[in-house]
This record gives sequence, C-alpha cells and structure tokens, in this order.
Amino acid sequence: MQLVWFRNDLRLDDNPALFHACQYAMEKGDTVRAVFIACPEQWRLHDESPRKLGILQSALQSLQKTLADLGITLELLDVALFDDVPKVLLDYCQSHQANGVYFNREIPLNEKHRDEAVAELLGNHGITVQPYSDDRIIHAPLLSKQGAVYRVFTPWYKNWLSVLSNGLPEVLPSPKAPAKAVDILEPITVPGAEVFREDLWSGEENKALDQLQRFCEQKAEHYQAKRDYPSIAGTSTLSPYLAIGLLSARRCLHTLFEVCVKQGFHHEDCLNHVWARELAWRDFYRYLMLNFEHISRGENFKQEPLSRGWLTNEDAKRAWETGQTGFPIIDAAMQQLLRTGWMHNRLRMLVASFYCKLLCLDWRDGERFFMQHLVDGDFPSNNGGWQWSSSTGCDASPWFRIFNPTTQSQKFDESGDFIKRFLPELADLDSKSIHWPSQEQRLACHYPDPIIDYKEARQLALDFFKVDS
Ligand SMILES: Cc1cc2nc3c(=O)[nH]c(=O)nc-3n(C[C@H](O)[C@H](O)[C@H](O)COP(=O)(O)OP(=O)(O)OC[C@H]3O[C@@H](n4cnc5c(N)ncnc54)[C@H](O)[C@@H]3O)c2cc1C
Repeated sequence: MQLVWFRNDLRLDDNPALFHACQYAMEKGDTVRAVFIACPEQWRLHDESPRKLGILQSALQSLQKTLADLGITLELLDVALFDDVPKVLLDYCQSHQANGVYFNREIPLNEKHRDEAVAELLGNHGITVQPYSDDRIIHAPLLSKQGAVYRVFTPWYKNWLSVLSNGLPEVLPSPKAPAKAVDILEPITVPGAEVFREDLWSGEENKALDQLQRFCEQKAEHYQAKRDYPSIAGTSTLSPYLAIGLLSARRCLHTLFEVCVKQGFHHEDCLNHVWARELAWRDFYRYLMLNFEHISRGENFKQEPLSRGWLTNEDAKRAWETGQTGFPIIDAAMQQLLRTGWMHNRLRMLVASFYCKLLCLDWRDGERFFMQHLVDGDFPSNNGGWQWSSSTGCDASPWFRIFNPTTQSQKFDESGDFIKRFLPELADLDSKSIHWPSQEQRLACHYPDPIIDYKEARQLALDFFKVDS
C-alpha cells in the first residue's frame, strides 16, 4: 500500500504527492490510502485560528468524499505535537503494510524538522519516503548573478519573471482512480475547529476552482484599478484556499494566463499582470522563510540588534484588538477581521502600521493576533506582512513611512462605505466627518475618543525608529 500524507495541500488538482502515489499504485497494481494528522497542541503553539481549522475541517470532509470516489480512504490521526508524528505514522504504516509515504514539503522550520524525523524513522524501518515540492510557483533555487540568496524583492522578482518567461511550471491533473470507490468512514472532525463564514468561503475544491475561474474572467482585468478600495470586492479573496492548499498557486497562475491569452494578451503581458505579481509576493515570502531559518524562530529579518525595545501598553493593545482605537478606518478594519476572519490587504497594512509605528508595539504580538483570528492565516505571508510593516523585514517599508490613518481613509474609502458597513454606529455621519468624527459626534454615536494624538504619536515613533536607522 502507498500512503499519502495530506497537510497544507487539501486538493486533488495539481497535487504532486497524491498524483505520484496514484500513478505508482496504478503501475504496480497497488492500493493507496491517505491520512491527515491533527496536532492540536502544536497548532495552539502556532496560533492557528479556530476559523481556519473550521475551513480545514470542511475541506477534509469534502476531500474524504472525492478521495473515496477514487478508491482512497482518508483517515484522521490525532496527536498532540509534531514530535509525536513520526511514531504515529510508523504505527499506521505498519498496521496497513504501507511501504511508501508521499507528501508535499512545507517550509517553516518546525514542519521541516518534523519531516526530517519522519524520514529518518520510516527509513530505518524500510519505508520509502517521497517528498515533493509544491507550495510555490517556482521551486528552483533563485540566486543572484553572484550566487547569493536575494534579500530584496525587485531583483528576485525579475529573476522569477525571467524563469517564467520561458514557460509556466507544469500543473498536474487530478489523479486517475487507482481502485474502485470505497465507503466513507466517519466524517472527519478536527479538534478546535469552529464555524467559519460559509457564506463567503467553502471547503469544496470545485467551488474554490470556480471562484478562481470567475475572478480571472470577470475581475482580474480591473484588479489594478480596484484592489486598493476595501468597500469594493476587487480582489480575489482566494487567500483562505491558498492557505490550506485547496488551490495551488500554480493553478492560479495558469488560470490567469488561460483567460488573458483568450482575451488576446501575450505571454509577457500576462506575466506582468499585477495579480501575478501578488502571487509572486507569496512565493517571495516562502523563499525567504526557506533560506533564512531565523524568520521561523520569530526573529527580526534584519538581525542587527535594536537598541530600543518595543513599548508595552496593554490598554492601547486591547483597544486595537477590539476595534476601539477611535480611528474609524482602523476600527472598521479590525471589525472586518473579527467578524469575517479576513481583512483587505490595504487595511492589513494600515492596522499593522498603526500597531508597530504609531503605538510602537512589538510586531510579533500583532502577528500572533492576526494568526489567531485570520481564516487565511499563513505563516510566511503573515510574518512577511508584519515585518514589512514594522520595518524589521527584508525589503521592508522604510522606518519613516508611517501611514496617516485619516488621510488613508479619505483616499481609499472616500464615501465611507466600508466604515459604515463595519461601524454601523457611524452610518449617519456624512462622508467628510466619518473619517474623523468631532467630539460631539463621537459622543452622540457612542464612538470612542482617539487613544492617541496622531501628530504626537508620529513624532514619538520617528524618534523611536530613528535611533536604529
Ligand atoms: C500585516 C499583513 C499580514 C498578512 N497576513 C497574511 C496571511 O496571514 N495570509 C495571507 O494569505 N496573506 C497575508 N497577507 C497578504 C495579503 O494581505 C493577503 O494575501 C490578501 O489580502 C488576501 O486577499 P486576496 O486573496 O483577495 O488577495 P489578492 O489580492 O486577490 O491576491 C491573490 C493572492 O496572492 C497572495 N498575496 C496577495 N498579496 C500578498 C502579499 N502582500 N503577501 C503575500 N501574499 C500575497 C495571496 O495568496 C492572495 O490570496 C498579509 C499582509 C499584511 C500587510
């Protein structure tokens, strides 16, 4: 028997480990089974959010059905920590006579160490381990002309583009059924899973693929013009699917290209599409995490020691977390996160800048809060976004770049529609005062006073960051 170990790749489409396990089994007349290993204690340490576990559970239940149609039984194994995984996998392999285990690699350090321990233990017992590279668009090592690992996005991106200008990476089809359909055992339940917004996302791969197709056909063309306005549904909202691997990033790029080519664009134009560039950012943060292990340890990307420490201000932190800062765009954004588990990219940048720059709070706590609440929590992208915002990261926002929440609000939510949606108490304010209500208006709307004076906080932050510039 060949065993597929599912992790962040809960799909049939373009899944190297699943594809090759099925292909091998078909050639050899062998069978395939599959497992997913829940590690609730490890997930708690990694701050996985209950909503993300909710969509993960839904995806596993759906995968259980589609795999059963292919004759593959998917089972959930349950341990506390990654350290417990090698033994539980070995026991499973031995009790089901598995002689090969297939999985797609994951990049963060704990996952890497877990996989090394699995490979060693299974190898010692004569079980072959077959890891595949999966979760980026380009897996070949991208190095500068001097052979160095890139630390800055733009030259890395040029290299990324030049590789893709020779052709897109292969996407694998869903595997052919290696055996007759099997019955489903108990539907999988994932410890810690809670309700997610099923009106916004689904755990079904087909629905995720449909959403991708619709986005590419109907919205990608206007993405550049609309992507910065949180009141408009101008982005794909595919991030929860990419985070659990219900979609592959390569499939996203292929679909974009297919649609663009049909619309008469050339390969190079498709490659330079702004949406493809966003997928490149996702690849880039993974590339960094792979090449700089200290990122996985929660350290600043820039390793020069900081002479200053971050401030401690529990009241301000709590106000930010609960959307009570008295800055409408910040509070509306935090409400979006709390109510849906998702936040628009422009707002992620704004609230993170507010947290690290205006409140001078440690980016790691903001990163953790995001992970605990996001339905699309993704360690490399979240870490990259927070380090960019706090100017500690690779190619980060310069230390003196501090977003003014009010002018950003006026620019990107001009009519105040987004604020009104998430702060209904301000819905009656006109489009001018909604960005910065007067004291009387705040009182009348039961909306809090600002927790900081923007100008003072900005000056303090500039002094604070200047020390290490
Ligand atoms: C502080 C901060 C924290 C973030 N945390 C996460 C996170 O936990 N998970 C996550 O997936 N993204 C994160 N991002 C990146 C980005 O905000 C989201 O990927 C994006 O908002 C998701 O919406 P979408 O699917 O509509 O994106 P689209 O604009 O449609 O982009 C398509 C896909 O490209 C990828 N992508 C887009 N922008 C970025 C980016 N800046 N960095 C990395 N990948 C990107 C995502 O996979 C996204 O789904 C964070 C950004 C910041 C500034």
